[in-house]
Amino acid sequence: MKKEPVITIKNLNHYYGKGALKRQILFDINLDIYAGEIVIMTGPSGSGKTTLLSLIGGLRSVQEGSLKFLGEELFGVSQNKLVQMRRKIGYIFQAHNLLGFLTARQNVQMAVELNENISQTEAVSKSEGMLGAVGLKERINYYPDNLSGGQKQRIAIARALVNHPPLVLADEPTAALDKQSGRDVVEIMQSLAKEQGTTILLVTHDNRILDIADRIIEMEDGLLARNSQSAVIS
Ligand code: ADP
Ligand code: MG
Repeated sequence: MKKEPVITIKNLNHYYGKGALKRQILFDINLDIYAGEIVIMTGPSGSGKTTLLSLIGGLRSVQEGSLKFLGEELFGVSQNKLVQMRRKIGYIFQAHNLLGFLTARQNVQMAVELNENISQTEAVSKSEGMLGAVGLKERINYYPDNLSGGQKQRIAIARALVNHPPLVLADEPTAALDKQSGRDVVEIMQSLAKEQGTTILLVTHDNRILDIADRIIEMEDGLLARNSQSAVIS
């Protein structure tokens, strides 16, 4: 049986700037990503990786072409709809984007409380459970400033995954980490995602983590390499 794609992109183009300054950044992108797949996107700096990720994540409006997330077309949808859809996505960025005045647990808990109508007690236990899963059980009451880069990125992973989103988008999540921490961070993402059946799209320059991918796709000058476009699903 053929699996339904989580993301279906057809003939997607994207431009920055207006008038004489208008410049095309993405060229005829076609891509399907299936449930539970871990896809790594590589490619030189400036090739359009972050732009594509932000379109998939509903952080920018689709200008031309079709982009479907869980079967729903994003071209032409309202900002309201985009906001709703963002709740189904976990984001992990290069900079962890944690709030410094909140502890590890509070940072994760905030994501739970923004999403769900659950009691404080439940939110606390859910957040602590997730921090335990990323190996930070002993650090739940620490502030980000008192933790290492790798530990902070693990909090960001806990925050992205705590609501069990169907899709996680990660933009160079290991870029600021040393080799071992980078490795640890992606292995945690990989095992949690496989447990929860989460789909992951991860952008990286880091050759040391390519082996966690089910599929590697390559962006160059706003084009996806041809062999990136069709997945071989076994
Ligand atoms: P990557 O993530 O692969 O480094 P980006 O998607 O960030 O690539 O950028 C692709 C191209 O678009 C680059 O030439 C970059 O300078 C340009 N660009 C990115 N963001 C903007 C923006 N907000 N406005 C104008 N140009 C942009
Ligand atoms: Mg980028």
